[in-house]
Amino acid sequence: MKTAPKPRVGIFGLTSCAGDQLMILNCEDELVALAGRIELLSFGMASSASFQGKLDLAIVEGSVCTQRDLDTLLEIRSRSNALMTIGTCAVWGGIPAMRNELPLEVLQEVVYGGKPLEEVSLEKAHPVSDFVPVDFAVPGCPIEKEEFLRTLVAILQRTSPERHDYSVCSECRINENLCLVRHQGLVCCGPITAGGCKARCPSLGIPCYGCRGPVDDPHYDATAELFDEHGLSKADVINQIQRYSAPAWVNQHLRAEWARDPERKGRQRVSDPSS
Ligand code: SF4
Ligand code: SF4
Repeated sequence: MKTAPKPRVGIFGLTSCAGDQLMILNCEDELVALAGRIELLSFGMASSASFQGKLDLAIVEGSVCTQRDLDTLLEIRSRSNALMTIGTCAVWGGIPAMRNELPLEVLQEVVYGGKPLEEVSLEKAHPVSDFVPVDFAVPGCPIEKEEFLRTLVAILQRTSPERHDYSVCSECRINENLCLVRHQGLVCCGPITAGGCKARCPSLGIPCYGCRGPVDDPHYDATAELFDEHGLSKADVINQIQRYSAPAWVNQHLRAEWARDPERKGRQRVSDPSS
C-alpha cells in the first residue's frame, strides 16, 4: 500500500532575535516524534541545507524591516501552500516596530551616525500580514512551546487550531493571582491582551506588556475605567505596550479606539504620544 507523502515544512527567519526558532529547537523530544510525520526541508538554525521547492507549510519568524526581508517573504509565500507566523515580531511587528514612531533618517543618523547601510531598510517595520496572506498565527515573545506544537499538530490533522479569545486577566484569575492594577496600582495590559501564556508575567509579579497582541473585541472602555480608578491613564498603557512590543496593535486598535473618546482624551494624566 502506498503511503501518503509527508507534508513538506520550512522554517524561516526575517528580522528578529531568532528566539522563536530557538524555542522550536528546544522542542527536542517533540520534534523527534514529529519527524516521522513531516519533512522538515528548511530550517536555517538547525541545518545549512537549503530547499527551493514547493512547501506545504512555511513557518515564518520576524518582522519585515528591509527590502531583503520583503523579497524573502514574497519568495517563500509564492512556493508555500500555507503560511504560519510565529512570534510577536511576525504577527504584530514586535520590538522592531518600535522604530515606526520616528522617521528612518533620524534613526539612521542617531544609531549609525548617518553612515550608509548595507541593508536597504523599509520606512517602517511591518508584520508579515501587511504583505502576504497568513493562514495561522502563534504570537508571543517568545512563543509558547505547547501552543506552537498544538497548532502544528492541528494543521497536520487538518483541524482548526485552538484560538485564545480570552484575555490574560482570565488566566491570571485562574492562577488566583492578586491583580497588580487593583492591589499595586501598576500598569498591566492583561485586560486587553490575548491569553494563551497562562498569565506568565503577572504570575511572577510582573505586569503584562501585551506581547501576545489584542484579545478579540477588547473592552477598551471597561479597561480605561479600571485604570482611571487607580490613577492610571491610557497614555500609561500605551507607553507600557510600546516599551516592549506590539506597537502595531496599539497603533491600529488602541489609539484609534481611544482617540474616538474626546472626554477621556481630556482626562489624560501625562502627555499622550497619540495626540
Ligand atoms: S490586570 Fe494584570 S494583574 Fe490584574 S488580573 Fe489582569 S492580568 Fe492579572
Ligand atoms: S503576560 Fe503579557 S507580556 Fe507576559 S507573556 Fe503573557 S501576554 Fe506576554
